[in-house]
Amino acid sequence: IQRIAVLTSGGDAPGMNAALRAVVLAGEHYGLEVFAFKHGYQGLLDNDHIRLCGADVLHILQYSGTIIKSARCKRFVDADAAELAAKNLDALDIDALIIIGGDGSFRGAEHLAQFWNGQIIGVPGTIDNDLYGTDATIGYATAVAIAMDALDKIRDTADAMDRVFIVEVMGRNAGFIGLSSAMAAGSERMILPELQNDKPLTVAALVKHIERVQKIRGDGSYVMVLSEHQWPGGAVALAEQLEAEYHLPCRPCLLGHIQRGGPPAPADRILASELGVHAVELALDGQTRVMAGIKNHAPVAVPLADTWQKKNPLNKNLLRIQHEIFNPVKKNGNGQ
Ligand code: ATP
Repeated sequence: IQRIAVLTSGGDAPGMNAALRAVVLAGEHYGLEVFAFKHGYQGLLDNDHIRLCGADVLHILQYSGTIIKSARCKRFVDADAAELAAKNLDALDIDALIIIGGDGSFRGAEHLAQFWNGQIIGVPGTIDNDLYGTDATIGYATAVAIAMDALDKIRDTADAMDRVFIVEVMGRNAGFIGLSSAMAAGSERMILPELQNDKPLTVAALVKHIERVQKIRGDGSYVMVLSEHQWPGGAVALAEQLEAEYHLPCRPCLLGHIQRGGPPAPADRILASELGVHAVELALDGQTRVMAGIKNHAPVAVPLADTWQKKNPLNKNLLRIQHEIFNPVKKNGNGQ
């Protein structure tokens, strides 16, 4: 192969720039020409591309975001959109396309594969860590570090004022950021998709838990991590419900897109660097419709469809430790 192209798609994730840099540097190392399409799949439709050399990407790995921009492109699900993308890729003589994104972006990659004969390699770039086949996705470590930092700060004021806080974190439909940040910051409670699917928490049970924890510890400080989409109306609605129905003073805190910015954590920069190079090497190896992943410290190639069709489970041992061992209220006493 002679020419490869790369794009970043879907929600941006800290470390996408580091992955882009790695793709360009590896491409140069192996004598390939590297093009980048801007704004994800939208750039494929608009034929909005640039040629990238090592000098263009040398000092981008310390920044979150993505210098080639990302986007969500609703139109890409249509057959004629994928046909147009294929035409534009062929006109540029692209042999392999590297897609840095999450599960939606990989669905888009499979869709494109129905209409384009070039090789397609995915690189897992999402803060949610919700892709099967890799130990971690690019951006996850940074999102957890940011959430932990916020939880530590909230703890200071919760301690001082003997207050209950609900901190809402991202994660799409998975509890990775919720569980890891709760453990790293020593939260009293987690409301995660995996726990909610098992046995949904009622407000009455939550209030009982809060009151028992406060009584057992003789301390009012109680910090709860709420994964997004796990309570109707989110942290604000839950806080209002606790105040209105149970006269329990409570403050919500929504971390939102803060979880995607700032300097990427070392783990994300290193993972992105390894995966970017791995993706180029998979392309050189003739592979297609696979995601470049890392399993037990070894580079792996995972069929793209597996990455969203199979489930990446939460670490059961961490869940048990945080939810049971570290729970001040023991089983059959916490109402859940
Ligand atoms: P994140 O989960 O981190 O936000 P993502 O890659 O899952 O990242 P999505 O918005 O779900 O983000 O998907 C990115 C883009 O992929 C979509 O905007 C769309 O262009 C394309 N895409 C998603 N699903 C499909 C599909 N079924 N067919 C074709 N294209 C798709």
